[in-house]
Amino acid sequence: MRTIFRDDHLMFREQVQRFISERILPRYQQWEKDGITPRSLWREAGENGLLNCSLPEPYGAGGDFGHAVVVIEELARANCLGIGFSIHSDMVAPYLDRLGTAAQKDRWLPAMARGEIIGAIAMTEPDAGSDVKAIRTRAIRDGDDFVISGQKTWITNGVNAGLVIVLASTDPDMGARGLSFFCVEEGLPGFSKGPAMLKIGQHAQDTCELFFDQVRVPADCLLGKLDAGFEYMGQEMARERLAIALRAAASAEGMLEETKNYTRERKVFGKRVIDYQNNRFVLADAKSRLTMLRVFLDDCALQLMQGTLDPVTAAIAKLNATEIQGQVLDDLLQLHGGYGYSAEYGIGRAWADARALRILGGSSEIMREIIGRSL
Ligand SMILES: Cc1cc2nc3c(=O)[nH]c(=O)nc-3n(C[C@H](O)[C@H](O)[C@H](O)COP(=O)(O)OP(=O)(O)OC[C@H]3O[C@@H](n4cnc5c(N)ncnc54)[C@H](O)[C@@H]3O)c2cc1C
Repeated sequence: MRTIFRDDHLMFREQVQRFISERILPRYQQWEKDGITPRSLWREAGENGLLNCSLPEPYGAGGDFGHAVVVIEELARANCLGIGFSIHSDMVAPYLDRLGTAAQKDRWLPAMARGEIIGAIAMTEPDAGSDVKAIRTRAIRDGDDFVISGQKTWITNGVNAGLVIVLASTDPDMGARGLSFFCVEEGLPGFSKGPAMLKIGQHAQDTCELFFDQVRVPADCLLGKLDAGFEYMGQEMARERLAIALRAAASAEGMLEETKNYTRERKVFGKRVIDYQNNRFVLADAKSRLTMLRVFLDDCALQLMQGTLDPVTAAIAKLNATEIQGQVLDDLLQLHGGYGYSAEYGIGRAWADARALRILGGSSEIMREIIGRSL
């Protein structure tokens, strides 16, 4: 029994499950082929209270982080890791809510909650991923404006994004201590996007490159204080990393259920796959690891709600959850035999989609660095 959820969370979970089975699953394969989810999905999700769950109305759906956990978990359990709601709701919206002025919040958050504006956050560059201080995108003050030039890559929700929070260097001599966040709207002169990138998984996700060629934004598009970007990242990363860990765990749990069913039905040499002790042991190992993980992640979620989740614990959560997910999904795929390698079966998609989670939001090696430095 999980103890972090109240009755309203449980009712919300049923509502989210209904939304996914009626509005997402019948269309998901097509979106995988399209390389993008339609903007109409986001408006439907907004109408159903699935976006910005943990923010008060009108900035969000009026829930708390427990509601956000429900959306994260149900999408992952349904094998829809390509839907980018979490970056929008659990990263972009909280950045705006915490750092934004009243005018910035009023301008973007209600429209994000309704799914009319889709949010993205752009930190990574072709030559700067793990090493944030290597960021080259520049924002230069010019009268009442900032002028932004540079390139970002691997930006989740990039093609659909109406609002991108961009990390740029405002004081190159200061390295990581000279970075600032800016709110950049789609359609500004000089701001262009590449097509959805070709990836090995998460095909419905419109991850893309963004280009800034002397993009002029008014100074009131600076988010938070000048040169405080790195400090803000440190404060916000715990939530993002926990959200990734929760996705990883729920995805593996969903696939364990699916594989249990598959191995009960599939017969080899006259016996069901699950009747072989080796295969039962594989399932038992997966169950044991995921059960332990679940207890730790629920504790982390509780800490986040109480405002006590620290960056090292969040790094431990992300490292463990994504590494366990990767290993468990590989084992579960093996139990499907050749069908595991088929794009027609969910397990193959889950396995490929999962691979990104050990890299994005800080790679496993960076998580080990964070944990190691704390020892
Ligand atoms: C599907 C997907 C979606 C993404 N979405 C976003 C997004 O929305 N916004 C955004 O800004 N970025 C996004 N990213 C980018 C992601 O955050 C980066 O890919 C990640 O931070 C790693 O950076 P990199 O790719 O430049 O790898 P590099 O930093 O070049 O790393 C290469 C290798 O070196 C290792 N390494 C790096 N530093 C160390 C170290 N100190 N010690 C030991 N090993 C080290 C890494 O772990 C990795 O194995 C996304 C990436 C993917 C794949």
